[in-house]
Amino acid sequence: MIRLINNFSKQIKNTTNKKYLLIPLIAYSFVKSQPKQIQLYTQPNQQQFSSSPMQKQEFPFKVNKEELKKRLTPIQYKVTQEADTERPYTGQYDKHFEQGEYLCIVCSEKLFNSDSKFNSGCGWPAFSSSEQGKIQENVDQSHGMVRTEVVCKNCGAHLGHVFNDGPKPTHLRYCINSASINFKKAN
Ligand SMILES: [Zn+2]
Repeated sequence: MIRLINNFSKQIKNTTNKKYLLIPLIAYSFVKSQPKQIQLYTQPNQQQFSSSPMQKQEFPFKVNKEELKKRLTPIQYKVTQEADTERPYTGQYDKHFEQGEYLCIVCSEKLFNSDSKFNSGCGWPAFSSSEQGKIQENVDQSHGMVRTEVVCKNCGAHLGHVFNDGPKPTHLRYCINSASINFKKAN
């Protein structure tokens, strides 16, 4: 009987070594890696949005990450694929007011027109409206805030956020990273 117990405890030692310890460890690090979320206010029509930024979702335009890494600059990749934000006043389109269109840097879909661009003074390109049906809105609860993330509806590229403090008549301010868009001059 003692020998049996000894064998059994040996077995436990052998099997518990890594495999079973890894599972709670992974679970713990996953929980630890989640940002602390503070609900500042509730979006009245949250259900119309997707639930989180950069979530796994199928988009019509399939992104080839390896190709993108070669084609885009590091900041363009980090913004569009990892929802990063360029530093304010550093983007090439912040103070850019030529006539033309702004296309998605990843899939070239037309997203904004220069007619709706305005100088918000916030350090990023700002638009009071987007091209119809080209933008998807997601609830973004990162950094202890509740914001509305905007992504390209065609490829899922992160663009920036939209706020309700823009000029009339839309009262919208699309706060967009220069790194996520490409300007095409009007003919
Ligand atoms: Zn796109």
